[in-house]
Amino acid sequence: MKLVLASNNAKKLKELDAILAPLGWELIPQGQLGVPECDEPHCTFVENALEKARHAARLTGLPALADDSGLCVDAFGGAPGVQSARYAQETPDDPKSDARNNAKLLAELGERCDRQAHFVSVIVFVRHAADPQPIIAEGEWHGEILAAERGSAGFGYDPLFYIRELDQTSAELSAAEKNRRSHRGQALARLLERLQAAR
Ligand code: IMP
Repeated sequence: MKLVLASNNAKKLKELDAILAPLGWELIPQGQLGVPECDEPHCTFVENALEKARHAARLTGLPALADDSGLCVDAFGGAPGVQSARYAQETPDDPKSDARNNAKLLAELGERCDRQAHFVSVIVFVRHAADPQPIIAEGEWHGEILAAERGSAGFGYDPLFYIRELDQTSAELSAAEKNRRSHRGQALARLLERLQAAR
């Protein structure tokens, strides 16, 4: 099945593609089809994911898959949450930067002991833009925020996201290991079960 991916994040595409390609799904990033990024105006992951999936389906006529994801820090009441990609932006025109987001997270957490956090991924599949029954799946991945970066794989907050049982950050895991454990891997596994049940 050919679907449009409502994201231009190359690393996210790589993670999703590694899981979906063996199942015969061809993911086409929306940028390749001339689809501009859409606004993510909502305060929940699920609403933003739906917005992105509908936007891509509407402009391409293809079924669409969207992931809205982010890091929720307990000590900040779940922030940066849906703002994770733009956490360090001072104006909407500032470019997104993982390095500045990570520096801001470390500065805001300072010496705090309470460093629990979790990643969230909500993945939405729509058959077409007006699909009345989108398929929605969510995954969470719990860890802690380190005081300094470790590892160079992955993207975003991975070098700060520490998994105690492995004594590794998510930036120290292989791609396959991250996909097995991550919020996105879990959400996708659930989505696939639901898609199969909906057939
Ligand atoms: P989105 O593209 O609006 O869903 O933004 C997701 C943002 O959340 C990314 O830019 C990262 O900052 C963060 N994020 C989501 N998933 C991950 C992950 O697997 N590792 C590290 N950061 C992530």
